Amino acid sequence: MTLSDPQGRLFIISAPSGAGKSTLCRLLMARVPDLRYSVSTTTRAPRQGEVDGKDYWFTDPETFETGIKTDRWAEWAEVHGNYYGTSATFIDQQRADGHDVLLDIDVQGAAQIQTKYPHAITIFIMPPSMAVLRQRLEQRGTDTPATIEKRLANARIEMAQGASYRHTVVNDHLEEAVGTLIDIVQRYRNG
Ligand code: ADP
Ligand code: 5GP
Repeated sequence: MTLSDPQGRLFIISAPSGAGKSTLCRLLMARVPDLRYSVSTTTRAPRQGEVDGKDYWFTDPETFETGIKTDRWAEWAEVHGNYYGTSATFIDQQRADGHDVLLDIDVQGAAQIQTKYPHAITIFIMPPSMAVLRQRLEQRGTDTPATIEKRLANARIEMAQGASYRHTVVNDHLEEAVGTLIDIVQRYRNG
């Protein structure tokens, strides 16, 4: 904590789908102490192995839309045809208790958070190339070919917006990328 902001920090990580953001966030959470992960709520179907309340809170569109009307979301966006949102209560409570929070959200959500929380630290994960991005999406094996094309088209738009983030990390070699992310977090904590 710093004197200018006695509350916990918000670290926002964004990336085009398939760049390795979930993998990096998992490793970051495992290796950095006292970092709280903001579990988003989504209307997309769970992927194989995803656990409700751990990876996402899975819900239906009606419940999500009620959340919009009742200001439940610190930010929300429609991504690839599904709703995604961040719990306002969770991040405010964690910050008030002095905990740093990690948010894995898209570029639209990051812009909303920055308006509400100007001190939020933004980190954009880049794939080494579009060819590698396609390869990772195909190898992950969780999306249909049509969904992969949708994600790749969206990736080009998101990567253009990534330029406005405070930090950029290229996820080529996994261990190197995790190390860079940990350094960024530690630099704010030590500063
Ligand atoms: P995202 O959360 O950004 O959509 P994932 O973390 O699911 O992406 O990663 C997409 C795929 O790429 C996964 O199969 C993952 O194991 C793989 N992957 C992630 N980072 C790397 C890396 N540095 N090198 C090779 N494969 C990677
Ligand atoms: P996926 O379906 O691959 O898990 O995520 C798709 C995209 O939605 C990713 O870019 C991810 O960062 C983003 N996302 C996940 N949770 C949230 C959220 O709460 N808010 C916003 N705006 N985007 C989210």
